[in-house]
Amino acid sequence: MRCFLIASLLALADMATAQLPFCGTRTSDQQHMLDAVQFQAERGRKDQGTVYIPLKVHSVTNDGSTSHYSAWALFESLCTLNADFLPSGIQFFLEEDIHYIANTSWNHHPEYEKGEEMMLQNNVPGMVNCYIVSDPAGNCGYFTYAGDAVALNKSCLGVRSHTWAHELGHFFSLPHTFYGWEGVDYSNGKKTSEYQSRVSTQIENKERILCRHQADRFCDTYPDYISNRWTCSPDGFSQIIMRDLHDSTFRADGSLFMSYSGDLCMNRFSADQMDAMHQSIEGPRFDLQRPDILPRSLGADSLNLIYPGEGQTVGGKKLQLTWEKVAGASYYVLQISRTNNFSVVIKNHLLRTNAALIDSLTPGKDYWWRVRAYNEFVFCAIESSVGTFTTESLPVSVWDQGEPHRTLIISPNPVVSGSYVQVMTADRQYGNGPAELHDLQGNVFAKLNPIWQGEICYLQIPPEAKGMFILRLITSSGPSQTKLIINNNQ
Ligand SMILES: [Zn+2]
Repeated sequence: MRCFLIASLLALADMATAQLPFCGTRTSDQQHMLDAVQFQAERGRKDQGTVYIPLKVHSVTNDGSTSHYSAWALFESLCTLNADFLPSGIQFFLEEDIHYIANTSWNHHPEYEKGEEMMLQNNVPGMVNCYIVSDPAGNCGYFTYAGDAVALNKSCLGVRSHTWAHELGHFFSLPHTFYGWEGVDYSNGKKTSEYQSRVSTQIENKERILCRHQADRFCDTYPDYISNRWTCSPDGFSQIIMRDLHDSTFRADGSLFMSYSGDLCMNRFSADQMDAMHQSIEGPRFDLQRPDILPRSLGADSLNLIYPGEGQTVGGKKLQLTWEKVAGASYYVLQISRTNNFSVVIKNHLLRTNAALIDSLTPGKDYWWRVRAYNEFVFCAIESSVGTFTTESLPVSVWDQGEPHRTLIISPNPVVSGSYVQVMTADRQYGNGPAELHDLQGNVFAKLNPIWQGEICYLQIPPEAKGMFILRLITSSGPSQTKLIINNNQ
């Protein structure tokens, strides 16, 4: 039953994107790219090593909005993209940060002209420019020769989507496997020769004699006449049986990214297609080459959350979440959710540091959080385990005696011995020197070294402390103190 449900859900997910035309790359643009590269099968690939190509991601949203395609999903899509290209020896990296654009007419562009305007105004020369938008002219994506970039539909990206690989195939000169049949509905009830007047290329036959001159001009991609999105049989080939000009029957190969088969079917470029992409990089796309680039890996295979500790109750205002710094990481993505399966994500932040100041969490609620680390080359992240915390119903504030302008906020309170408390004061200025933990008789129990993260100070409570204490801090306007209850977690 469960398998059936999952299968049904996958089918539904496929249908959701299947409603959109898959790719809007025009035949004239595919022809431009074919003409520019003039693929030579006998030439092969110059270098068998990995070629690193700079990718420029432009994330587009509406006027005045800051709500972009989530970084979590973006990196998952990039992870799939590099996995799809791995056998080709081409790997993408982020030479520059993501470029954020707020422009409604570019985010929703029913016509190609608006998309090309967006590209011409924003393209960074010498990089593969990719625009993530809400409506790329009614398609899941397209490449355009005039704009020299690809546009990708937010709803068609994701960890299981190969839309990005398909569009970058076009960027590196590859036409569709059914090239020439775009916009033509094939039916095997009609003689194939009757289609020739509507098909813009020589119709490809099953026999390989003229394959270098037919359809996509690759001999290791077999004939394909299907220009609508289709679902493959379990063997990866089309359910529809086609007949070529000699009445030989065949089925289309759904494993190829440059076909229109579903995301669950496609998983490869052919050897000739991979060589053609390299010939594009060695030829017209030579300005993408970065021969001296050294890829960097991450220096860890795990990531631990630091604050709040597991199950802690903390203030929801100006809560600074922190996690371990990962050597070699350039980006962290933080997710905070109100549900343990992250079905409702309320914060989704792309960060350069191993901390995030969260300003406004609803008091008295449970939260789940997790973090992933990446760098410019590593898009398949390492991920923390899921942490949980609860926000206090009200922040605990204690007025220093006789000095009402000096407010000291401690969170959490009570705190578990050995864990951290966050300390904030109203005037946000602190003196130097350690904080002191006094017992109720006024004796110094421990001196605590403050750890600063922005305007918040962290203090680690000694593991041996238990009971009620007075925490004393020196702020710029004098000493400040508050009661602190410490529970032992044994
Ligand atoms: Zn396409």
